[in-house]
Amino acid sequence: METTGTVFNLSGMSSPVVIVDQVIAEAIKTGASDILLEPEEKSVKVRFRVDGVLQTYGEMVHGAYEQVVSRIKVLGNMDVTESRKPQEAKIRVDIEGHPYVLRAAIVSTNFGQMAALRVLDVPRYSDFLQLGMGVELADRIKKNISGRYGLFLVCGPTGAGKTTTVHACLRYLNDGEVNVMTIENPVEYVMPGINQIEVGEGIGMDFASGLRLILRMNPDIVFVGEIRDVETAKIAIQASLTGHLVISTVHARNSVGALFRLLDLGVDRYMANYALRAILSQRLMRRICENCRQEYVPTEAEEEFYSRETGKKPVNQFTGGKCDTCQQTGFKGRVGVFELLEMDDDLRELVISRAGESQFREKLAGKNYKAMNGEGMALVDSGVTSLREFIRTMEDAR
Ligand SMILES: [Zn+2]
Repeated sequence: METTGTVFNLSGMSSPVVIVDQVIAEAIKTGASDILLEPEEKSVKVRFRVDGVLQTYGEMVHGAYEQVVSRIKVLGNMDVTESRKPQEAKIRVDIEGHPYVLRAAIVSTNFGQMAALRVLDVPRYSDFLQLGMGVELADRIKKNISGRYGLFLVCGPTGAGKTTTVHACLRYLNDGEVNVMTIENPVEYVMPGINQIEVGEGIGMDFASGLRLILRMNPDIVFVGEIRDVETAKIAIQASLTGHLVISTVHARNSVGALFRLLDLGVDRYMANYALRAILSQRLMRRICENCRQEYVPTEAEEEFYSRETGKKPVNQFTGGKCDTCQQTGFKGRVGVFELLEMDDDLRELVISRAGESQFREKLAGKNYKAMNGEGMALVDSGVTSLREFIRTMEDAR
C-alpha cells in the first residue's frame, strides 16, 4: 500500500463500508493520531496525522465520499439526514482483534462535509522513561507527586504529550489504595482503576463545576484536564491545600511562563505559593529515522538560529532521508524534551515580591534546573533529531 508519494485512489474500492474500514485500519497501522477527510473543489483528500505532522494518504471523488460520510455517521449513531449542523460522536471499531475508539467530528465546509477522526487508543507510553525522560528527572517528578497533597502542573502546546505524562503520573500513583479521579474534555484514554469524568459543552459541565463535583466523591488524587480560568484555579489550589494531590495542565510556552500564567489568572499569591509543588514543561520532537539518517548542511537561516541558541556554529548536522521504514518522511517515532521547575523557598520569595520572569531565570540558573532549549539542542547535536525539527517545535519555548 502506498501511503505517500503516489496518492491512493479510494473511490475505486467496492463500498463505503470497505473504504471506511480500510482508512481506519491503515491509519492505526501507520500510528496516526488523527484522520482528516477534507472535501475540496474537485475531490476529497484523506490525510493522516503521524508524529504530529499531516501526510496525504489518499483521495476519492465526491460521489463516493458522500456515502463514506453516511457510513461514519451510522457507525457513530449520528443523524444521517443532517448535513449542515456539526455532529460529534464516538465510534468503536475492531482492527485485527484489538478494540479501538475514535472520536468523530463532522462539520459542513465550502465543498461538503469535512470529517475529523481522532484515534483514542490506550496510551502507547505508560512509563516516564518511555517518553525519553532520564531516570533522574523521572525520580524528581515522582518525588513531587508522592506527597499526596499540593499542585503539580504540566505545560506545553497541544500535541506536546502532556496527556501521556499525566497518565504516567496517575498510573504511578494508582496503587490500589487511593481514589484517583479525573475531569477531562474529552476522556482521551480509558485507564483501568481510575474514575474518569468527561466534561464539556455537550455535557453541560465545565472544569470548575466538574472539579467541585468530584471533590465530594472523596478523592485522594485529582486530575483536572486544564486550568484556564480563575475559578478552576482557585478550587484546584484550595483542594491541593486540603489533602488532595491535584495534577493539571496549563497552556504556556515554558515552566516559568506557566507559573506567571497561573498567577496572572488572579489567584491568591500566598495560597498558590504554598500549593504549587512543581511545573513540568515539555515538547515532543520527531526522531530522525535511523535507517536513512544522513548528514546535511543547514540553510543560512537555520545556521543563524543555531548560533543564536548556542553561541557557536553548527557542525555535523543530521536529517532524515527517504526510506520505506519511515514511509519516506525521514522521521520515525518521537522523543520528549522536558524542563522541571521545582518550587523552593527562593522561588516562593520571588513570587511574593512579584519578581519578573528574568529574575526567576537568573535564580533558576544557579539551581538544578535544565531548560528545555538546552536539552532539545543536545538532541540536535547528537543526531537524534534535526535542527529544522527543533525550530518547528521549540522556537517559542524560550
Ligand atoms: Zn527512513
